[in-house]
Amino acid sequence: MTGTMTEMITILIFMGAPGSGKGTVAQHLKEKYVVSCFSTGNLLRNEVKEKTAIGRRVEGIIGVGGLVGDDVVNGIVEKNIEKVAAGGKGVVVILDGYPRTEGQARVLDGMKDGKFRNSIHVIELDVDADEVVARISQRRVCAKCGNTYGAMDKIEICSCGGELIKRKDDEEATVRNRLKEYEKATLPLSEYYFDRIVKINGKGTVEEVVKRVDDYFDGLGIERRR
Ligand SMILES: [Zn+2]
Repeated sequence: MTGTMTEMITILIFMGAPGSGKGTVAQHLKEKYVVSCFSTGNLLRNEVKEKTAIGRRVEGIIGVGGLVGDDVVNGIVEKNIEKVAAGGKGVVVILDGYPRTEGQARVLDGMKDGKFRNSIHVIELDVDADEVVARISQRRVCAKCGNTYGAMDKIEICSCGGELIKRKDDEEATVRNRLKEYEKATLPLSEYYFDRIVKINGKGTVEEVVKRVDDYFDGLGIERRR
């Protein structure tokens, strides 16, 4: 017998500390593989744009400067996974910190009577603090247009003519602090997913890291775009 619908969906949860290169890798995955990428921010904005019942609620909450609650976020994620699953197969990549807590992870596992649970894989881009500090401390931003430049960009002046400066946020102490906070916040999640988490080495050049992620995606049999 061939797989049932529920076995055909793959859910990849993508984790990585600030500065791990997660954003760059995610952009690459979107272009290379047939996947639906979710970030809770985008999903929420879509609801607002489409003026759904949830969207109107979200708009109301954001309008008064409130935080959108777990129940709303969980509901939107579930609805969108269902949409992909309805096609019979599909790969969902969840970016940008969902699930953020062990509680959300449990809700995700329990969705549709647990039918997604065995389809969930967690990838964490693993980098050490020194490497992130080195990367971020080489980052400069244009004072005029806000463009960001990394260590590879051997220029002193932005293409717009603006001066390149270091952001206060990118100073070493701040970066180390952010990393510590990230670790503290995600530790319960890594523990919860201990039997489903794959750590991918995030050291080295973008090409090297992307190659490792590709190997993992290819190993899962995820379809490449043509
Ligand atoms: Zn500029």
